[in-house]
Amino acid sequence: MAERDAIVVGAGLGGLAAAIELAARGWRVRVLEGASVPGGKAGVVTVDGVEADTGPSVLTLPDVLDAVLRAGGSSLADELELRAPSPAFRYLWPDGAALDVAHRADETLANVGAALGGAAERELSSFLAYSKRIWDAAAPNFVLGPAPSVLGVAKLGLRAFALVADIDSLRAMERAITTRVRDPHLRDLLGRYATYNGSDLRAAPATLNCIAHLELVGGGFGVTGGMYAVVRALVRVAERQGVEVRCGCPVTRILVEGGRVTGVEAGGERLDAAVVVVNADVGALLPGAPGGLLGPEVRSGLAIEAPRSMSGWTGILRARRGAPRAAHTVLFPGRSYAEEFADIFDRDQPPVEPTVYLCAQEACHGRAGWAAEEPVFVMVNAPAEPATGARDPALWARVEATAMARLRGAGLADATDTLVWRRTPAELAARFPGSRGALYGAASNTTFSAFRRPANTVPKVPGLFLASGSAHPGGGMPLCLQSGRQAAAEVGAPTG
Ligand SMILES: Cc1cc2nc3c(=O)[nH]c(=O)nc-3n(C[C@H](O)[C@H](O)[C@H](O)COP(=O)(O)OP(=O)(O)OC[C@H]3O[C@@H](n4cnc5c(N)ncnc54)[C@H](O)[C@@H]3O)c2cc1C
Repeated sequence: MAERDAIVVGAGLGGLAAAIELAARGWRVRVLEGASVPGGKAGVVTVDGVEADTGPSVLTLPDVLDAVLRAGGSSLADELELRAPSPAFRYLWPDGAALDVAHRADETLANVGAALGGAAERELSSFLAYSKRIWDAAAPNFVLGPAPSVLGVAKLGLRAFALVADIDSLRAMERAITTRVRDPHLRDLLGRYATYNGSDLRAAPATLNCIAHLELVGGGFGVTGGMYAVVRALVRVAERQGVEVRCGCPVTRILVEGGRVTGVEAGGERLDAAVVVVNADVGALLPGAPGGLLGPEVRSGLAIEAPRSMSGWTGILRARRGAPRAAHTVLFPGRSYAEEFADIFDRDQPPVEPTVYLCAQEACHGRAGWAAEEPVFVMVNAPAEPATGARDPALWARVEATAMARLRGAGLADATDTLVWRRTPAELAARFPGSRGALYGAASNTTFSAFRRPANTVPKVPGLFLASGSAHPGGGMPLCLQSGRQAAAEVGAPTG
């Protein structure tokens, strides 16, 4: 019986995608989720009867989600309604500059021309062409297929040189931006995409400049009813295929016997399976990790590159309606934006003067708020938690006070608006074992990060597979979904 049984550890986006794709291949799938609800980092909180998203707020590359839902016999159009709020993003700088980014690139370019001038508009237009070239080259080789290897790229022969040039991987993201763009505000806007994978703008390969194309041309979407509607849709489609999603069921051990995976232990019970797909953070698998899922019989074969990607301090603001909040608002700092990355990655501290991000969930997702107030998600980037020890909790009270003061100063919150929910990086780390609070696994801070990220297979442990933001191809909603798809593709069909 166990030859057709697959267990997925975790009901985050990667786990649910893997479950749907495995069921489509003929596996009998059980998803075991430690928390009381599915979704993982794509979570929700309910305050006084109003539900608000506590995780992602922008969906890019919706085709990946559609592909997962189609594998489950449905489709994105059947399950969800995407929203293209206008304006999408409002960027604000302390020098008074303001820029509305639209859902459509031509509108955004016109707004840039009006707000920052014709030269900036031309720079953005040319940058978007460059960004598209990177994506077109990187997508098939580094994102939408198996994990890349240096050998695999070398096998391309002369074509490898063209690929490396197209993906612009030999210089840093910041360097490529400053070479191509002179407008300081546009530099900040484009540099912020490093945070979409929690990386250091100053060190991450310029390949990440493709994110500008994905959002500014492909579109950053809201989802009617909130981002958690994506989780509900995935669970619905999985269950329709016969997948069992069991919540409140933490897996305490992955069983490896005779050199291969034989199942898991959960709730003191042994559950046999020929295949185990781990959606928990890869950090929870490292040999010797506290509370680690693998026993001493697995000594090597797994590693996660340092440093970890960024974490974040997050909150939900119960905010009176009427302030000029777009679906997304980004409040940049007065000092150089690069200092934010220096604080996080060099000084290992939250930014002294942080960029503050807001998502007004009524405008973005059409969520229903309270009678007089709307739920607004607030986020400040922060370093992942230290490997040992903890930071002084008073630090987070200071981050919160700074963020609120900046929002009030910019007229985006008033004196009576209150935070009704908040989560520190330490709490995030406790909620997601092995993650150290990092939102996207390891940071992509070197040319070779994509090669060092754990693949979806673990060759030294047959039967063990990885599907999460800490495995190939990395973090963020579409990439985690793709991680689940790729893990299932590596598993293949049951042989029994
Ligand atoms: C605040 C915030 C904002 C974000 N903003 C965006 C955004 O705007 N756009 C975007 O694309 N991405 C965003 N992201 C990133 C995105 O949400 C994540 O990359 C993605 O949701 C992670 O999915 P995952 O598959 O890695 O699983 P996770 O969400 O990490 O879930 C893993 C699951 O495994 C479970 N688990 C762990 N250990 C065990 C165990 N032993 N037994 C059973 N279950 C276990 C956990 O409880 C969890 O449910 C954001 C994330 C956060 C936190």
